[in-house]
Amino acid sequence: MAEIHVENLKVVYRGVILALQGVSLRAGPGEAIALLGPNGAGKSTLVRAMAGLLPQYDGRVLDGKIVIAAQDTSHAPALKVASLGLTAILEGRPVFRYLTVLENLRAAAHRLGAARRKEISDEIFRRFPRLYERRNEQAGYLSGGEQQMLLLGMALLTEPKILVVDEPSLGLSPKLVEEVMRVLDELRRDKGLTLVLVEQNARAAFQIVERVYVMEQGRVVFEGTAQEAQADADVMEFYLGAG
Ligand code: ATP
Repeated sequence: MAEIHVENLKVVYRGVILALQGVSLRAGPGEAIALLGPNGAGKSTLVRAMAGLLPQYDGRVLDGKIVIAAQDTSHAPALKVASLGLTAILEGRPVFRYLTVLENLRAAAHRLGAARRKEISDEIFRRFPRLYERRNEQAGYLSGGEQQMLLLGMALLTEPKILVVDEPSLGLSPKLVEEVMRVLDELRRDKGLTLVLVEQNARAAFQIVERVYVMEQGRVVFEGTAQEAQADADVMEFYLGAG
C-alpha cells in the first residue's frame, strides 16, 4: 500500500500558463479520493504531474511538491514514478487501437515474467469476461466501456499500488458508468489500492470514494467527505452543476 501527498503544487505550461496555482491533497494507503470540478479546472494537469508526464505536454512543476511512497517525485520522470507503484490511466481511452486486446495486454505486461503475466491475465479475464470474448479483436473496435475495462486490465499488469484514473465515465451510458465504478471499487478493496479518481461525473464518484477535492481554475475550492460535499448546496450547484 502506498500514499500520495501533493503540497502547494504550482504547474506551468509553456513557461507562461499557470494551470495549477498551489494545490494540496493527500490520499492515504488504500484510500479512495476523487478530484472533481468543471472542464479546465486543472484535474488532468494534476494527473500528468502525479504521473511524471508534464514534460510531454510542455509543462513543468514551478513550485510545491509531490511525494509518493515517501519519495519526492516533483520532477521525477514517468518511469521513476511507475517504479514507485503509481499507474495513471489517462483521459481519452488511450488504447493501442490497431492492436488486438491480447496484444494491448501483452504490451502492458512487458515488465513481468511469463508466470506472473499468465496469473494476472487470468485474473483480468475472470474480472472482465467480455474482454476474453473479444481478445482477438482490434481495440479500436471495442465499445467505450470495453476500452475502459481493457485499460484497467493493462493497469493491473503493472501491479499498481496507487491507481490514478482520469475521467473513466466519459461518454459511457449510466449503466456502464455504474459498472466501471463498481469495478474500481472492487479493485481497490481486493488489492488494497490507493485510488485517485478524476471525474466530472460527481454523482458517480460519490458512490465509491471517502473524500473529495473540488477544483476550479487551478485551485482546490472544497475539500471534505463525499457526504459533506453532497450536503453543501454551493459545491453541488456552482462547482459540480449537480444541484
Ligand atoms: P478537462 O476535463 O477538460 O481535461 P481539466 O480540469 O482536466 O479539464 P486541464 O486539462 O488540466 O483541466 O487544464 C487546466 C488548464 O491548463 C486549462 O486552462 C488548459 O487550457 C491548460 N492546459 C492544459 N494542457 C495544456 C497544454 N498542454 N499547454 C497549454 N495549456 C494547457
